Amino acid sequence: MSKKVRVRYAPSPTGYLHIGGARSALFNYLFAKKFGGDFVFRIEDTDIERNIEGAEYSQLHDLIWLNIIPDESIEKMNPKYAPYRQMEKLDLYRKYAQELIDKGYAYECYCTPEELEESRLEQEANGVSAFKYDRRCLHLSEEEKEERRKKGIKPSIRLKVPSNEDLTFNDLVRGEVKFNSDDFGDFVIIKSNGIPTYNFAVVVDDHIMEITHVLRGEEHLSNTPKQMMVYKYFGWEMPEFGHMTIIVNKNGKKLSKRDLNIMQFMSQYRDKGYLPEAVFNFILLLGWTPAVNKELFTMEEAMEEFDPARLSRSPSMFDNDHLNWMNSTYIKNLDEEKYLELVKPFLLKNENLNGADEAKLNLISKIYKSELIYLDQINELVNLVLIKNQDFDRNAIFAAESKDLLLKFADLLKNNESTSFDKESFKLVINELISLTGIKGKNLYMPIRMALTGHEHGVELFNIINIIGKEEAIRRLKEEA
Ligand code: GLU
Repeated sequence: MSKKVRVRYAPSPTGYLHIGGARSALFNYLFAKKFGGDFVFRIEDTDIERNIEGAEYSQLHDLIWLNIIPDESIEKMNPKYAPYRQMEKLDLYRKYAQELIDKGYAYECYCTPEELEESRLEQEANGVSAFKYDRRCLHLSEEEKEERRKKGIKPSIRLKVPSNEDLTFNDLVRGEVKFNSDDFGDFVIIKSNGIPTYNFAVVVDDHIMEITHVLRGEEHLSNTPKQMMVYKYFGWEMPEFGHMTIIVNKNGKKLSKRDLNIMQFMSQYRDKGYLPEAVFNFILLLGWTPAVNKELFTMEEAMEEFDPARLSRSPSMFDNDHLNWMNSTYIKNLDEEKYLELVKPFLLKNENLNGADEAKLNLISKIYKSELIYLDQINELVNLVLIKNQDFDRNAIFAAESKDLLLKFADLLKNNESTSFDKESFKLVINELISLTGIKGKNLYMPIRMALTGHEHGVELFNIINIIGKEEAIRRLKEEA
């Protein structure tokens, strides 16, 4: 490659950073880094009605959270390429559109939405499935235009699309892709409100920003021939295109942002305590197969290994179990200090732990480290211990001798000097209990566990006592005796 590689992620601020967007950004980023290029973050905000508060911030900062750091962005502009938001350069699009009008490649269209709708219905009645503009404004005279303007009609600008022209390109992911200009009619490049359409603005942006490669989602595949027409008319060099496959759920259905059962937004992962390194690693394997046989990649390794030729041609399945496995693996691999630092903010949100000191929080953190799928899960788990479940069938759990067992155990705890236990010191207490009562095994452990937490499973008994404290343990034992 002779030119400096420049790629971009160009979200519309109509939503927060989503798994699909993060994947586009990540592959572009790796592509840039692999080839010593720049990764640009810019904003496509022309769909003004759908833009939402906070989306732009999330799109950029949730990427940064993933350690995907743009070389240029709305917060780090290179003056040579600024502005980085489309709504800040409407005049520029207008100027370029005028250039196409002057060259005879575009024209003003004064059709009202009502007229267009009428024409669409007419075409539909004649069996045409995809509406194509009938070019009724192509040859309007100056007088006719003036007449319409006087009526207050503002024109849009349409591209004059030639008929039956093959538009072929070599897609980085799927090889040769062929379209024909007859697939679409004269499309609007500037709307009557002066705002450009995506297919026009994106070409102007990519050209001005000297973008060399466009890697984006499959949903844009059919837009590419339209964009090619624009490049052609301007005589601009085209970037290379690559379209990544869709992400599907386990049933093979396209992941929908409306599907609330699947967490899809980076902010949701962050809030739950997924680690950015794990989410990054998971997304990396969503539609890209490494040549080496391994699954865990640091950012540096991914940059090293990334090869766009290994981007998948078939839909990538979003497998929640895989994500969870990935995250729990990353949590397990954290060194203790880092882990404590990361998990503490989650524990501090737990009202049931109000007043717990540093040592207690550290102790709880360590107990659950190997079990956590996401950091916030520590609260779900520790709450099972902190709050006793009272709703269990006592007759089924406690045998006739259980009362005596629980009382004797409570006494042993009371008379024991230690305030906390480890496996060894606890074993001594249990051995004493066995010799006092003659009860052992499940008949001993189950009544104690149920009396302490009201749950059949959970962390080891000595840790339950460590978490709730000896006094509370004695109280709970006596409660059932
Ligand atoms: N704003 C477009 C989107 O969010 C970007 C399309 C492109 O990358 O060309 O899908």
